[in-house]
Amino acid sequence: MAKGPLDISPESTSGVLHDRAHTINPFEEMASRFDHAAELLKLDPGMRKVLREPIKEVKVAIPVVMDDGRIEVFIGYRVHHNIARGPAKGGIRYDPGVTLDEVRALASWMTWKCAVMNIPFGGGKGGVICDPRKLSRGEIERLTRRYTAELMDILGPEKDVPAPDVGTDSQTMAWLMDTYSMHVRHTVTSIVTGKPVSIGGSRGRVEATGRGVMIAGREAGKEHGFPLEGARVVVQGFGNVGSISAKMFAGEGAKVIAVSDAFGALRNDSGLDVLALIDYARKEKSVKGFPGGQAFDPKDLLTTECDVLVPAALENQITDQNADAIRAKIIVEGANGPTTHEADEILQKKGIVVVPDIYANGGGVTVSYFEWVQDRMGFFWREDEVNQRLEEMMVQSFADVRDMAAAHGVSYRIAAYMVAIQRVAHDMQVRGLYA
Ligand code: NAD
Repeated sequence: MAKGPLDISPESTSGVLHDRAHTINPFEEMASRFDHAAELLKLDPGMRKVLREPIKEVKVAIPVVMDDGRIEVFIGYRVHHNIARGPAKGGIRYDPGVTLDEVRALASWMTWKCAVMNIPFGGGKGGVICDPRKLSRGEIERLTRRYTAELMDILGPEKDVPAPDVGTDSQTMAWLMDTYSMHVRHTVTSIVTGKPVSIGGSRGRVEATGRGVMIAGREAGKEHGFPLEGARVVVQGFGNVGSISAKMFAGEGAKVIAVSDAFGALRNDSGLDVLALIDYARKEKSVKGFPGGQAFDPKDLLTTECDVLVPAALENQITDQNADAIRAKIIVEGANGPTTHEADEILQKKGIVVVPDIYANGGGVTVSYFEWVQDRMGFFWREDEVNQRLEEMMVQSFADVRDMAAAHGVSYRIAAYMVAIQRVAHDMQVRGLYA
């Protein structure tokens, strides 16, 4: 399923935590978990300084000729957090709320995520401050091409490999790949992942993040005695990650009882017809108005009583303001950074199991890794091979995180950071510092 245009708007009806979400600095949220995990690992203070800071931050001013002939300038960023284990890997976000600190946080999470999944990538991320819902297709294409051209020096299959994120999709990646290829004078499919399959994309990539979220929920459920069969699932956000997660949970016999997007929320206690809802949302660009469910106040979505809660929209949705009211058994983080560190403490006290973003949504980057491998081989795998390899890696990484959590008596989140930091720090030590 191709993603629709950006669904986030300042006038969002479901953005109950919108103001709150924007006052919390996502980089500081990342850093507080990093510090906690580094402390438990007794990480060398020098290594701690190195791993806390992104290694490269580029800001670009992107001039675009708008459809009416005016020139507009958009601000964009690309951040590399760490490249010790391989090229920087991470999506590009088109959103009015993009800030440098958000991109820095997202780049750092990519380092940790790639390390938790044990794939040979570092962490990067990009963002452009814009509202693609208010831009024409032509304007988005010109913006994407100029952004790519400005970043030619730092992009490359061995340097930095972008992918889609909020507000971008496979078409954006096709334009990026084409622009890069024009500059280097030959087709380079491995410069981006999340491309259309016909031009070097991987089978299974569109569904990979949601599939991984389901596997993460299933593995955590097994560990804590909650089977997915018959489980009541609530999903916040119905874009790529939210809609596919809902589909995957429903495919395992779970009942998706409520979903929301930037425009509204829907519930049906007997279970929404997820496939029909995906079709509807694709056409209407929202879940709002779907006849198979009742509309309700989106601010009640996260606190709906359920077994599995999947935040799959934006950062800082579960905070100290609503964590106490959450009535889920397991939270599986489809989004990056949906839970603040203060909320983590409240949830832990309530006995709610949190399956953290840097593991739970790692299925996307794992299949991006498969896409990069296939592009470099020029040999493409069947979808069932992709899914099988993803399954194996999600199961293995869950075991790594679970074992770390058990060994240190910590949450899955801190354990996931510990697994990741240990891997990156080890590889940096083996390589040594140059000069
Ligand atoms: P998307 O643009 O496809 O979808 C975002 C969804 O969130 C939309 O349905 C939007 O309406 C909804 N939304 C926005 N604000 C909301 C609000 N206040 N309340 C409820 N819903 C709201 O983006 P996506 O690719 O699905 O990404 C979602 C999250 O998952 C982001 O945090 C992203 O970084 C993360 N993520 C994405 C991938 C991927 O492969 N696409 C991989 C890993 C993590």
